[in-house]
Amino acid sequence: MSKVMLVTGGSRGIGAAVAKLAARRGYAVGVNYRTHSDAADAVVAEIQREGGNALAIQADVSQEDQVVHMFHTLDERLGPLDALVNNAGILETQMRLEQMDADRLMRVLSTNVIGAFLCAREAVRRMSTRNGGQGGAIVNVSSAAARLGSPNEYVDYAASKGALDTLTIGLSKEVAPEGIRVNGVRPGTIYTDMHASGGEPGRVDRLKSVIPLRRGGSVDEVAGAVMWLFSDEAGYTSGSFIDVSGGS
Ligand code: NAD
Repeated sequence: MSKVMLVTGGSRGIGAAVAKLAARRGYAVGVNYRTHSDAADAVVAEIQREGGNALAIQADVSQEDQVVHMFHTLDERLGPLDALVNNAGILETQMRLEQMDADRLMRVLSTNVIGAFLCAREAVRRMSTRNGGQGGAIVNVSSAAARLGSPNEYVDYAASKGALDTLTIGLSKEVAPEGIRVNGVRPGTIYTDMHASGGEPGRVDRLKSVIPLRRGGSVDEVAGAVMWLFSDEAGYTSGSFIDVSGGS
């Protein structure tokens, strides 16, 4: 039987690339989406055309009831979970901290931090050998911003990814004895639609000259690192981070 993976925010960008690569590597993939079922359906259709197995599943990861329901649906439709990619994330428009209101901070923390915590909790409840599960692995998609801080534009986003990294470290130690590995990937500046939501569609090209490798990254380069962390070669790797950030 295929291993089962859930990718949050899997309908576009990095999440869609991870979902497609995972399907090519034999996973049955839950493609989570928040609002755009058509985009998630298109990812599922592409996977099915290549002979893979995938299912689009709606849930806003910041909402506990929706997360719990999503994991139940996944159990019923695809079987026991082996792998979780906490990929869903948001970036709001660029501004300094002194202009940020509490609503914005709550939105960013709700998706980037609370969402990852809730999905990790549901995954651990299923995977833990302590609960009769078979073990598994979790990859949290963080950001180079967690190291760099994103001053003058997104200190809220950077801080949310710092919190996600600390979850990766703490949870990895908590659940290692129960057969679960937890790692993080920190993308740098990657060509996706996220930069448009951050108010700067041309951001990747603007930053090229300060990226040591002098280019933005592709979603496939991030997906490759994520999938390595699920591979047998990474069997002794937990609580670690891969920076996919062009040397930044
Ligand atoms: P994207 O905006 O293209 O995709 C993010 C996906 O997450 C979207 O499909 C969106 O609908 C979904 N999402 C957002 N909030 C959600 C919620 N509450 N519930 C469920 N789904 C939700 O962005 P991307 O560039 O593909 O980013 C993917 C991840 O990579 C994010 O965590 C992001 O922070 C991280 N990242 C991206 C970059 C980059 O340069 N693109 C750099 C560093 C880190």
